[in-house]
Amino acid sequence: MRNEFSREIGKEISKVTKKVVDYKRPEIVILVNPFSGQVHLQVNSLLIAGRYRKLVRGIPQSKWLCAECRGNGCSRCNGTGKLYPESVEELIGEPTLEVTEGETIAFHGAGREDIDARMLGQGRPFAVETKKPKRRFIDLNSLTQTVNKRAKGKVEISNLQFVTKDTVRALKRAEGAQKLYKVTVEFGKSVRKQKLSELAETLTNAVIHQKTPRRVLHRRANLVREKYIYKAKVKRLKPDKIEMQIHCQGGLYIKELITGDEGRTTPSVAEILNVEAKPLELDVLNVITTKEEAI
Ligand SMILES: [Zn+2]
Repeated sequence: MRNEFSREIGKEISKVTKKVVDYKRPEIVILVNPFSGQVHLQVNSLLIAGRYRKLVRGIPQSKWLCAECRGNGCSRCNGTGKLYPESVEELIGEPTLEVTEGETIAFHGAGREDIDARMLGQGRPFAVETKKPKRRFIDLNSLTQTVNKRAKGKVEISNLQFVTKDTVRALKRAEGAQKLYKVTVEFGKSVRKQKLSELAETLTNAVIHQKTPRRVLHRRANLVREKYIYKAKVKRLKPDKIEMQIHCQGGLYIKELITGDEGRTTPSVAEILNVEAKPLELDVLNVITTKEEAI
């Protein structure tokens, strides 16, 4: 009876609106209670995915609320309610919200980079979800241009496309996707060339045992993770400074791989060379996704 009822109502609505009824992936669901006569509209989210590059350091991926006032605005955050004036989420989300005329947005990233790391190469897959959009037929080229113009020099997006919830699910799984990093490292003293080639050799095809870094202990469970490094390359810049490229399993904390985090990450660059090592600048050069996660 329920199905028959839906079909009949669907036919009538089709006639009046001249729209096609889509039972599998509806944009709007009309809930009818035949006994009370109540009608309720449920507007489903609009999902747009793409890739973003973060060209500068100092911008977080998501909006970061002020710890003091939790977003209400106080003297510590100059009334903004935020710890950082802008974020990747807002730089992409605000123009999206304007064109879709929705209520709010939610931002989903395939993992995240640190605030002080750039995201380069092809960029990181993301999806922006507009809740209760009034407009769904969006010119994605023009949205791309608007975002890239307003966020010029900071954030750049590409490959915008309409996607389903399944894509967003796959995208979130891609947090564990392989990554390619570039990091410059400064040592406490000069290191001989011979030691540097040993470093690259030791870290290539190596399993790293990493206890949760102290800096993220407040939000991550304290456990030991085993992460694989496929390849490590070392380039000498100065006697006490190198540039490394690290192709590794997703979820490896690179800063701790350098410093050793007081023995919590082993082996580490500091441990292998028996020298103090400090990461200076970190860039994500690539997020390597599988076919089904590809955006
Ligand atoms: Zn505040």
